Amino acid sequence: MLDNPKCRGSDTELFYDRVNWAKVAKICNGCPIVLECRMEFADDPYAFAGGMDPDRRYAWAREWRKPAPPARKVPGKGGRPRLTDETKREILRLWDEEGRGARAIALRLGIATSTASAYLKSNNRKRTEEQERELARRCAAAGSAMHRAKGEETTRNVLGLLGEGYSVKEVTALLGISFGHIYKIKREAAS
Ligand code: SF4
Repeated sequence: MLDNPKCRGSDTELFYDRVNWAKVAKICNGCPIVLECRMEFADDPYAFAGGMDPDRRYAWAREWRKPAPPARKVPGKGGRPRLTDETKREILRLWDEEGRGARAIALRLGIATSTASAYLKSNNRKRTEEQERELARRCAAAGSAMHRAKGEETTRNVLGLLGEGYSVKEVTALLGISFGHIYKIKREAAS
């Protein structure tokens, strides 16, 4: 069973400021949900998450999403298709090393989910539906908690800088966020 994210309780600023990324890499190292986190943050251009900075994560995601060549099948008994050794190895690798489920493996390899499930089952790779759901839930929770924390932090920074007398234009330049975003934060703070 998966454990909690290793970064729980860490300062969110660490993840969004590149001067801290070496420190964050150490936090991510050995995190039990590193793959799920990486998938969740695959398109986030700002955060160090899932053990990778945005550039590395982008390259990783490009490979991850690349449609796999259709699985090569050879005729088996009764004329039914049979998985090649290469495809079998890939099924087990995706399960063991990348933590993917039967459905994701089937999509990646261009084979039927039932074929992937059957092969995994015959090799004692089982994850109950409940475990699958728990995995997805933890992944989503870790991702949304970080996004929420980032939003709160941005609001704090914007209001802090405005309070110190910086103009809206200066705040956009300092924080790299739009005028619209700053006015929205001001409106919400005033209401
Ligand atoms: S950022 Fe992701 S991989 Fe790193 S510790 Fe947190 S949950 Fe784990």
